[in-house]
Amino acid sequence: MLNVPSQAFPAPRSQQRVASGGRTKVPLKQGRSLMDWIRLTKSGRDLTGFKGRLIEVTEEELKKHNKKDDCWICIRGFVYNVSSYMEYHPGGEDELMRAAGSDGTDLFNQVHRWVNYESMLKECLVGRMAVKPAVPKDYHEEKRVLNGMLPKSQVTDTPAQEGPSSPSYDWFQTDSLVTIVMYTKQKDISLDSVIVDHQDDSFRAETILKDYSYLIHLGLSHEVQEDFSVRIVENVGKIEIILKKKENTSWKCLGHPLENHNSLIPKKDRGLYYRKCQLISKEDVTHDTKRFCLMLPRSAHLQVPIGQHVYLKLTITGTEIVKPYTPVSDSLLSEFKEPVLPNNKYIYFLIKIYPTGLLTPELDHLQIGDFVSVSNPEGNFKISKLQEVEDLFLLAAGTGFTPMVKILNYALINIPSLRKVKLMFFNKTEDDIIWRSQLEKLALKDKRFDVEFVLSAPTSEWNGRQGYISPALLSEFFKRSLEVSKVFFCICGPVPFTEQGLRFLHDLNFSKDEIHVFTA
Ligand code: FAD
Ligand code: NAD
Repeated sequence: MLNVPSQAFPAPRSQQRVASGGRTKVPLKQGRSLMDWIRLTKSGRDLTGFKGRLIEVTEEELKKHNKKDDCWICIRGFVYNVSSYMEYHPGGEDELMRAAGSDGTDLFNQVHRWVNYESMLKECLVGRMAVKPAVPKDYHEEKRVLNGMLPKSQVTDTPAQEGPSSPSYDWFQTDSLVTIVMYTKQKDISLDSVIVDHQDDSFRAETILKDYSYLIHLGLSHEVQEDFSVRIVENVGKIEIILKKKENTSWKCLGHPLENHNSLIPKKDRGLYYRKCQLISKEDVTHDTKRFCLMLPRSAHLQVPIGQHVYLKLTITGTEIVKPYTPVSDSLLSEFKEPVLPNNKYIYFLIKIYPTGLLTPELDHLQIGDFVSVSNPEGNFKISKLQEVEDLFLLAAGTGFTPMVKILNYALINIPSLRKVKLMFFNKTEDDIIWRSQLEKLALKDKRFDVEFVLSAPTSEWNGRQGYISPALLSEFFKRSLEVSKVFFCICGPVPFTEQGLRFLHDLNFSKDEIHVFTA
């Protein structure tokens, strides 16, 4: 039978039954799914006790509301009465109670900083935290127009010994162009380290410098054309964003600073930024998996680094729902060159549709031309881990195949030391195998690549490998090309699969440095 929820669903990190790093999974009671919660919030019930009136909450007041039937929590400066949400919380009541009557922002961020609580809990909003009077910053410094001088970055929380040295920016102009130059002082910068968006009145350029994010955020002083180009001068770590003026007049200043302009902060502390992308195509890949092609707006520069994912956001009955997805190349056999062309405007996804899931049926119902919000990339896979690798082993289950696509293409084209890539691809049935014929063709075309399909629920006609991931399967699979070779493993799939795979690999004496596990 199709789409019977597997043991691993709801996706363990899904908004419906979230459980990550050390969190207890809590089975949701019947009628307590996220969709049921959304329905309750639309019912018109007064969930705050204030009939929609918003109040200013002091710390003293917040502290008083610390019981299950009277529980207030502050998240990102807003206070919510979460008493009625208790039973719907995927992490369970006890977890929510850890933040009762206090500021739960860190707790919520640790688990899922991308979950949009502002939207999910908007009917529970009691009000804002009262702000203690603070010594005002130099207003004139904050608001001053930018005239091309190099301003000092607001380096927040940056331990001097760990963070990158403080970046800065400048600008210059010709009759028709304005060039914004960012000096990162980091030599290995590439086009996928820079994300630029120019929408409405805001110009935003975020540069990822190791685990830090440097942001230029401006209201430009004059209008510019929609498209622009981004150039990297690698050996000096310089990034140039070249804007085309709408009118050939001389600009006296670049613009005025917007929120968090010229700041360098740990990447994890920078909120996710979304831009609307248009659905260009949607094609069947298997009976339940489709390839989606989204087009970035012309006014955006975004390339998703290999091994990273983005969040797709849709508003479902008034609530913003966000889930992670890993972009793939348009096909396995497509020529893939590094760096990706700067005018690359398309992002491809392989997405399995779960008929009783929350987001995927909505994605499936999108029409060509509709819009989906796409976030900045996230993820901790580092391409440098593949350097000088000789034997690359990929263990994928179901849609856990998605991060392997770009890794496979990259490895075959860009790693001269590579001798062998082996993909062990676990699925339930033959019909579930994504891009089977492409994988088989690639194995014929490139002798370095082998693929092995393992089915957990095959039909009687299947004479290939069967079963779940096991030490026996793995030890057969891991034949090195040389007696001593540099190996690397990537594992992705349902959580029980990745957990077992990791355990078996450790038992086979592979070290942490030789394995990357994809998790959210
Ligand atoms: P959900 O609402 O999460 O439900 C999924 C399934 O669980 C359904 O079958 C549903 O019926 C069942 N279910 C829901 N609630 C319950 C319940 N209370 N009891 C029992 N069963 C229940 N997926 C892809 O297809 N492609 C990708 O490239 C991809 N990349 C990812 C990258 C990362 C980093 C991560 C963490 C996940 C990725 N996923 C990917 C998975 C994706 O994020 C979603 O989890 C998936 O699409 C399901 O979303 P959904 O809202 O449709 O389903
Ligand atoms: P699925 O239910 O079709 O299962 C595919 C295979 O996984 C099965 O044939 C089996 O071999 C293995 N498997 C499933 N449950 C198992 C268990 N309990 N123990 C051992 N092995 C098990 O998989 P699906 O519906 O395609 O789900 C794919 C999963 O991969 C989702 O959980 C998704 O969130 C995750 N994913 C993660 C990323 C990432 O980057 N972190 C990317 C894509 C997908």
